[in-house]
Amino acid sequence: MTWRATVLTLFPEMFPGPLGISLAGRALASGLWALEARDIRDAATDKHRSVDDTPAGGGPGMVLRADVLAAAIDAADIASNAFSSEVETGSRQENPANQESRRPRLLMSPRGRPLTQQRVVELAAGRGPLIVCGRFEGVDQRVIEARGLEEVSIGDYVLSGGELGAMVLIDACVRLLPGVMGKLASGTEESFSDGLLEYPQYTRPQAFEGRPIPEVLLSGDHARIAAWRRAQAEALTRTRRPDLWAARPAEAAAKTSKNAPDG
Ligand code: SAH
Repeated sequence: MTWRATVLTLFPEMFPGPLGISLAGRALASGLWALEARDIRDAATDKHRSVDDTPAGGGPGMVLRADVLAAAIDAADIASNAFSSEVETGSRQENPANQESRRPRLLMSPRGRPLTQQRVVELAAGRGPLIVCGRFEGVDQRVIEARGLEEVSIGDYVLSGGELGAMVLIDACVRLLPGVMGKLASGTEESFSDGLLEYPQYTRPQAFEGRPIPEVLLSGDHARIAAWRRAQAEALTRTRRPDLWAARPAEAAAKTSKNAPDG
């Protein structure tokens, strides 16, 4: 089944936006993944098509209504089930466990669990998430509970809406989908795989403003190059991200180079 991101937003015209360009955009055009941006306002019921109201208890701004958002989520579920059975009939049979498992339902939210590469890998391995984008002061708490929304944050700062966060999440997932990245290795050796930041990269020219490419990289000695890169990745992680360094997986800790530069 094609990996599919469904985005619930008040601004569907923001999509695909940057996701329509380069790696993700080419993959989208060639059907390696699918994107569905649905307008939350289509679920509004009153004549003004209102989606928000003032916060109970007072305070500034507006809050997205639970009833409208729940209706938008339910409509997206119905559409996505119809989509899957369409794809299923006449094509290969899916593992029934996958068919039944509900798609992850995410809510972009500064209060959420910070997004990590590990979570991205999990989301990329599934059917693809439904992502709710908040706006204004956020969404009514009751819809988060009633529809089991998993709050996801892209960092400790506040955006004006969830759309850019949803794009960040989708972009990170899409580049991991089979067939999207030309060379598989570029997905497995980069930052955060193995709990480390990536080593520094160089390309021609050989000398740039008096700075040469490190000699070892031109040596052709693959074992030495691998050891140098490993040591650089460890030193960078230790100095820049002591939190990642302390939390790296046990297998990675066991592999720590004896010759890592001190950080
Ligand atoms: N009043 C809220 C902020 C609302 S910002 C608070 O203080 O927590 C409006 C919307 O932008 C949010 O509902 C959310 O969907 C999105 N958003 C803002 N910052 C975000 C972040 N760091 N990560 C993910 N989504 C974010």
